Amino acid sequence: MLNLILFGAPGAGKGTQAARLVERYGLLHCSTGEFLRRAIAEKTPQGLIAKSYIDRGELVPDAMVIAMIDQVVEENRDAKGFIFDGFPRTVEQAQELAELLQKRGLQIDAMLMLDVPEEELIARLDKRAALEGRDDDKNTSVIRNRIAVYGKRTAPVADYYETHGKLHRINGVGDVEDLADRLAAVIDNL
Ligand code: ADP
Repeated sequence: MLNLILFGAPGAGKGTQAARLVERYGLLHCSTGEFLRRAIAEKTPQGLIAKSYIDRGELVPDAMVIAMIDQVVEENRDAKGFIFDGFPRTVEQAQELAELLQKRGLQIDAMLMLDVPEEELIARLDKRAALEGRDDDKNTSVIRNRIAVYGKRTAPVADYYETHGKLHRINGVGDVEDLADRLAAVIDNL
C-alpha cells in the first residue's frame, strides 16, 4: 500500500493534483473537504454542523473528520493506497490518523507539501470562486481567515511529519503538468 498526504494551503492546488495522482497510481482519493461538502448538500446532521464552521472559514471539529476517515479506510481495506487531501489539518488529526492506520497495520509513507506564496493563493481562490461558485471562496475575509487558520493550526502538521522524516516540500508555482511531474518524481523515489 502507498499512503500519501497531499498538503498545502487553501488554493495550493491539492485537488487538481490529487486527481492526477489517483489516475497515475490508482490510489483512493480522500478529501475531507469533499466529504463535508457532500454532507452539506445532503443536509445530514453532520453537514449542518459542518456548514456553520466552513462558512466562517474555521475548521470543523477533529472528531467529525476522524470519524469520516476511519470509515473510508475501513470500507476500503483492499485499496492500493490512499491519498489524503485536506487532511490531517491539525496535529491532533495527524496523531489520530497514525493510530487508526496502525490499528490496521498501515502507515503514512509520505507527506507531499505544495509550497505556494500567499498572494498567489488569494489570486487563485478568487479565480476559483468565479469558476466553481464554492460559498467559502466568495468572500475575501473568509478566504483570509482560512489562510490564517492554515498558518496557525495546519502548518504545524508539516513539522509533525518532518519530525517523522516523511515531509517532502515541492514548489507549487507553475504549470499543472510541471507540478504533476515534480510530484511523480518524489513518489517514484519513495
Ligand atoms: P481548501 O483546501 O480550499 O480550504 P477544502 O475543500 O479542503 O478546501 O476544505 C474546505 C473547508 O472544509 C475548510 O475550510 C474547513 O472548514 C473544512 N475542512 C476540510 N477538511 C477539514 C479537516 N481535515 N479538518 C477540519 N476542517 C476541515
